[in-house]
Amino acid sequence: MSPEQPLVRALNVHKAFGHVEVLKGIDLQVERGQVVCLLGPSGSGKTTFLRCINQLETFDGGRIWVDGKLIGYEERGGRLHRLTDKRIAAQRRDIGMVFQRFNLFPHMTALENVTEGPCQVRGVSKREAKLEALALLERVGLSDRAGNYPSQLSGGQQQRVAIARALAMKPKLMLFDEPTSALDPELVGEVLEVMKELAAEGTTMIVVTHEVAFARDVADEVVFMDGGVVVERGTPAEVLGAPKEDRTRTFLTRMR
Ligand code: ADP
Repeated sequence: MSPEQPLVRALNVHKAFGHVEVLKGIDLQVERGQVVCLLGPSGSGKTTFLRCINQLETFDGGRIWVDGKLIGYEERGGRLHRLTDKRIAAQRRDIGMVFQRFNLFPHMTALENVTEGPCQVRGVSKREAKLEALALLERVGLSDRAGNYPSQLSGGQQQRVAIARALAMKPKLMLFDEPTSALDPELVGEVLEVMKELAAEGTTMIVVTHEVAFARDVADEVVFMDGGVVVERGTPAEVLGAPKEDRTRTFLTRMR
């Protein structure tokens, strides 16, 4: 696919759980190397939208392309057909995800958590995976913790291992779903710092967060969602500094 194409394009994405419509036509475009922060009150559909991008949720209408490829479906005869689980798993490999709860394998060391994916899925040799994993653990500031189990690590350290684990798959896109909201306040900074470095290195990221200061410092675009729609989008200066919509203003006032 041509490099000029946006890495992520979502068009009119709709999703309902039963009769409750939680995404009412979401559009999004993320250029390569960009950081987009999704902000909005709880229940506005941010997590669901993120999960649609890597097909942890199916959606009911609209289209999402990552790197020019339609996600989750293929178009035949003007209609969408769901891809097989195998093809969806292959698409998901290009998309790293970091969850609110770190979801590390508890019976594996930090190093083993990071090497698991490359060995099992990418078919990398154990030796190579270990070298890559050690470099990644160093990148997230945890080279001295490679042999520790998750229970021996703080929440902030576990989340940094989770970031290293996602990066080990060499994803084209990183999704972060409120990566700091389960952390004690004093541990938030170390995780945000790692994310800032990734952004500075040109990693394409979509970040659901309540950290307004992070969005202001790091985001190329801020998207404010409420009630399953995008209420407002723009640069951090526009959306956070001079919001046009009442709903955005009310939300930002509450966050202060
Ligand atoms: P946000 O991330 O903005 O807090 P969510 O995407 O988590 O919002 O949730 C949007 C709405 O969808 C909420 O009303 C939530 O209760 C509902 N929801 C999310 N996941 C499910 C699910 N698996 N089944 C039913 N309802 C869900």
